Amino acid sequence: MLLRHTTSEVVERNALTINPAKTCQPIGAMYAALGIHSCLPHSHGSQGCCSYHRSTLTRHYKEPVMAATSSFTEGSSVFGGQANLLTAIENIFAVYEPDIIAIHSTCLSETIGDDLKQITTKAWEDGKVPAGKHLIYAHTPSFTGSHVTGFANMCHGIVDHFAECSAVRGKHIDIFPGWVEPSDMREIKRLAAEMGISIIMTPDTSDVLDAPMTGKHQMYPKGGTTIAELKKVGDAKHALALGDWASTAAATRLDAKCGVPFQVMDLPIGLRATDRFIDQLRRVGDVSVPSSIVDDRGRLLDLMTDMYQYLHGKTVALRGDPDHLLPLAEFLLDLNMVPKYVVSGTPGKKFMERMESMSPATKAQNGPCADMFLMHQWIKNEPVDLLIGNTYGKYIARDEDIPLIRCGFPILDRVGHQYFPLVGYRGAMRLLEKILNAILDRKDRDSTEESFKLVM
Ligand code: SF4
Repeated sequence: MLLRHTTSEVVERNALTINPAKTCQPIGAMYAALGIHSCLPHSHGSQGCCSYHRSTLTRHYKEPVMAATSSFTEGSSVFGGQANLLTAIENIFAVYEPDIIAIHSTCLSETIGDDLKQITTKAWEDGKVPAGKHLIYAHTPSFTGSHVTGFANMCHGIVDHFAECSAVRGKHIDIFPGWVEPSDMREIKRLAAEMGISIIMTPDTSDVLDAPMTGKHQMYPKGGTTIAELKKVGDAKHALALGDWASTAAATRLDAKCGVPFQVMDLPIGLRATDRFIDQLRRVGDVSVPSSIVDDRGRLLDLMTDMYQYLHGKTVALRGDPDHLLPLAEFLLDLNMVPKYVVSGTPGKKFMERMESMSPATKAQNGPCADMFLMHQWIKNEPVDLLIGNTYGKYIARDEDIPLIRCGFPILDRVGHQYFPLVGYRGAMRLLEKILNAILDRKDRDSTEESFKLVM
């Protein structure tokens, strides 16, 4: 009983988080920066922050994640980190030769009040940025928001720096994929290609964090959105921002800078959210949906119908990021399952409004005090059949003897998320397979000898 101190009595809290259902902003900024080709993330703060962010991403992706740090000392903590950052910029371009350095702040540099716009402008003015190289930045104070906010802030910084606007609109569509796995980004690109639509995806971590083994270390793998593509995002005829929390900031900035119209949509997780995504892609791309995608949808529907009997009425506790939780809960409802508890550490009023309108019976909470402790207390009062969330849910799963499906960030103790998508119709089939396996394994385990079945 690792969580034996969790009590069933829920006491209202407004100033204490216990086992948060989120992590800190710079991790998101680092992940977004890794989706840009030949970009080195830079953490403006102490070495400890950078180590933690790198190691969490490395453990999740099982790939070495590179990032530099301003390595704050006591002096920089008192007098500000400008000198450290200027030296770092010079050294990084000289030693590691990236095309872009993507700087994000940390709690410490934010508390001091370091202004990244002012410091990066000084770096340009002092000639510390070689010709053809780029500096981008995002303020990512971790005492507010979450890793999703940090991801959104860096995406905003990318668009802000690179997007160029010309009088001629291109034929391509911009897709801001939100915080999804490299496998999901690859699947979104596959769907667009299948529909014959040219897209620019920003950022794109496929072929960066799921790069094949070649026997040769590549500091900057072949994947990632290129500088040439980033400049062209301003000429797109339309933009789709997938995930309100992760992608709205970038799409809004692009619209303000270059007048690219955009729609904010749910991540295409599950049947209905994928339907909306494909339909919108069809409209803005002015194409028809090919039969291969219609067939994928039909296979998903077939599976949902065949397996409905095992899922009906099963209760689920979900924990993670709002952009994932909303379409996930919708998919569970489509499977006639019950999203009983939903918790997200990422703040934002819209989340509760959308959860309430989608599923009034669901007990949901988001923000700083919506943590794993609270979810565990709810489960202690009324248990559920299934948990869905990141690796940290395994403590609740073990203590309460409930199966856990790993989904979200971080997943530190399993593989698969890098390689097999959860988005699109095929992703929904994989998700459904995971749910079914968890429910049926439990049914097998709990069956009496008389009711133990070979054929389901
Ligand atoms: S100090 Fe702030 S930025 Fe650094 S690891 Fe902790 S929460 Fe994240």
